[in-house]
Amino acid sequence: MKHKVTLAVSACLLGQRVRYDGRQKRHSLIVKLFENQFFDQIEVVPFCPEVAIGLGVPRPKIQVVKSYTEKNKNEQIRVLGVENHRLDYTDSLKSYAENFLMQFPDIKGIIVKSKSPSCGFQSTPLFTKQAEGYQQIDLTSGLFVQSLLRLKPDLLISEESQLDTESACLTFVNRVL
Ligand code: SF4
Repeated sequence: MKHKVTLAVSACLLGQRVRYDGRQKRHSLIVKLFENQFFDQIEVVPFCPEVAIGLGVPRPKIQVVKSYTEKNKNEQIRVLGVENHRLDYTDSLKSYAENFLMQFPDIKGIIVKSKSPSCGFQSTPLFTKQAEGYQQIDLTSGLFVQSLLRLKPDLLISEESQLDTESACLTFVNRVL
């Protein structure tokens, strides 16, 4: 039997209702591609880091925050609850990335949901605490994606927002293959 290439996709893009608000973000082009054309060549692995670390659906929103440790003033990127900043999911998301790669060591590519604090790739709002509260200061990647790329820098990655035409989808999938 022909060996399939593993490609992971944010579960919400495949129509799974795993978002914080209980909704999904089905991406028809991506879904169609894997259901039809590449069915024989690609093993699609759906994943949702926030559900995997036990946050549940629906769940309170989280955000990526640049913070400074009291002791040495070192910068740190953390993922904290939007309403309750004492809830810190950074270590859980990092561990999930490690476990994910242990489970799928041969993974070649990943398609992720833009702007997500877990899944985004260079499109996720980065906040920091200022006198008037948390303010966005930049864009970054979601913590799960940051951790994944640190461990596997050659992973091919695309956000769904870059795959808005059939030709863009085909170009990415062919690179993965
Ligand atoms: S963007 Fe990522 S963490 Fe958020 S619902 Fe989709 S798969 Fe889950």
